[in-house]
Amino acid sequence: MKKIVKLLSVLAVSLLVSISVFAKQVVYVGTNAEFAPFEYLEKNQIVGFDIDLLNAISKETGIEFKVKDMAFDGLLPALQTKKVDLVIAGMTATPERQKTVLFSKPYFTAKQVIITKGEDKSLKSFDNLAGKKVGVMLGFTGDSVVSEIKGAKVERFNAAYAAIMALNQGKIDAVVLDSEPAKKYIANSKQLMIANVPAEEEDYAIAVRKNDKALIEKIDAAVAKIKANGEYDKILKKYF
Ligand code: GLN
Repeated sequence: MKKIVKLLSVLAVSLLVSISVFAKQVVYVGTNAEFAPFEYLEKNQIVGFDIDLLNAISKETGIEFKVKDMAFDGLLPALQTKKVDLVIAGMTATPERQKTVLFSKPYFTAKQVIITKGEDKSLKSFDNLAGKKVGVMLGFTGDSVVSEIKGAKVERFNAAYAAIMALNQGKIDAVVLDSEPAKKYIANSKQLMIANVPAEEEDYAIAVRKNDKALIEKIDAAVAKIKANGEYDKILKKYF
């Protein structure tokens, strides 16, 4: 009898161990793979800084992330309607967004920049965009920045490359975009440049639903580890 009990308990323990090994926590992730170097498509695969960061978090936490590509302005609605459980998309943790989602600690600092075709000497500050046609991406922080400038004529685009194309064709006077993707666009062009004007810093963070505090705490702890053990710097070096 004792033997059977022992055998059963050994079986039960090994069953539990195997369940915990195989039953990985799966978290569905939304991103918008049009934001190099944070997320972009390479041979039909979503790659980039954010994806490497996610993989490093996965190694730390054991969470399995499944990434879906969608329009940027659909990301937070997809989070709210549980189509995804987490958003990583070079997303700025704005006070407005903080009303509806829970953000991780910041993992990257960026700013908005003004891209022009050729030098525009009239640009000393963002306010000098007044009277100009300015391309922004729908729902990006650049959209809200330019929308607040009195007299600026905001032209909203669904994708940054479309705004850059309009700028190249002389249909608009400037594009306001996050600093790192902007650098990528001007690197591929002889005429495009970034105006040297002061800009406020903004923080990129990972978003989850308001009630997923445990998940975001896990992620914050993992990112802290990744920053401390040098993994974060390795990923930085790879993309910047
Ligand atoms: N940082 C900007 C924002 O949060 C743009 C992000 C993006 O296009 N992926 O609105």
